[in-house]
Amino acid sequence: MSTGDESAAITRIRREPPPFRRLEVRRIEDLTPHMRRVVLGGPELDGFELDLPAASVRLLLPQRGSDAIEMPVWTGNQFELANGERAPIRTFTPRRLDVQRLELTLDVVLHATGAATDWARSTQPGDVVAVSGPGRGYEIDTDASSYLLAGDESAIPAIDQLLEAMPPSMPITAHVEITDPSARMELHAHPLTSVTWHVLGDGHEPGDAVASAIEALDELPDAIWVAGEAAAVQRLRKHFFDTCGRSRSTVTARGYWKHGRSAT
Ligand SMILES: Cc1cc2nc3c(=O)[nH]c(=O)nc-3n(C[C@H](O)[C@H](O)[C@H](O)COP(=O)(O)OP(=O)(O)OC[C@H]3O[C@@H](n4cnc5c(N)ncnc54)[C@H](O)[C@@H]3O)c2cc1C
Repeated sequence: MSTGDESAAITRIRREPPPFRRLEVRRIEDLTPHMRRVVLGGPELDGFELDLPAASVRLLLPQRGSDAIEMPVWTGNQFELANGERAPIRTFTPRRLDVQRLELTLDVVLHATGAATDWARSTQPGDVVAVSGPGRGYEIDTDASSYLLAGDESAIPAIDQLLEAMPPSMPITAHVEITDPSARMELHAHPLTSVTWHVLGDGHEPGDAVASAIEALDELPDAIWVAGEAAAVQRLRKHFFDTCGRSRSTVTARGYWKHGRSAT
């Protein structure tokens, strides 16, 4: 027998996300062999606003084997194509918005394979995509006495943006997990930040290196922002709340992707 809660979940209608804006790829730059910067632009970016760091956008990709994008329809639960399939959409951090040039920068991790990573590997200036957003960003707690920022490669764009937005007087400890030493990159030079890079060893689950490093800290900073592979983020939530007894209001922990599962 289904409970009232379950049937409510089944029939729940989610608020329609902002409409997609059709943009073209303007420039591509490799930040590292593992991270490709793609600058999108076009007149439809007019009116797009970013007020907080570590926000999100939905990126609508062309369907495999096609250069064109099909604008999906919101069903109340997901974006669907005319053939009933889920639209090829992935979530990224809107890394930089240039309102004069109407350009939006995304930094995309080049991992083994997936719709977005494959697109980022092959896209060329002039290619068309669409972007919807932004989704909620992160309000920095300027009253905190210190910050922990942590995550894997998918969180580097958000961590870099957070470093840029932090008050210069805020002491910050950052822990970043990379899959290879060549994925290490220059982050925003915040004056009071110590960044430790952790290379994930062979045979370890994603997020293991950064989670182990955080679990080994003698003392946790006052406020915490972490993001990355969902199971690793869940492990850290347990550490913060169950082991360390931290209050929910001091921790933001976001699962950005799931190991072994496509985001569709
Ligand atoms: C709020 C938010 C912000 C994000 N910001 C960024 C960002 O700025 N840059 C960025 O690159 N990603 C970011 N991500 C993560 C990104 O949405 C996912 O990594 C997404 O799954 C990539 O899509 P894909 O088509 O390449 O792979 P998918 O088709 O989703 O997955 C295919 C396979 O690849 C694996 N996989 C997916 N992502 C990764 C990864 N990062 N590393 C290793 N294996 C992976 C999956 O487990 C699966 O087995 C963000 C996610 C969220 C929720």
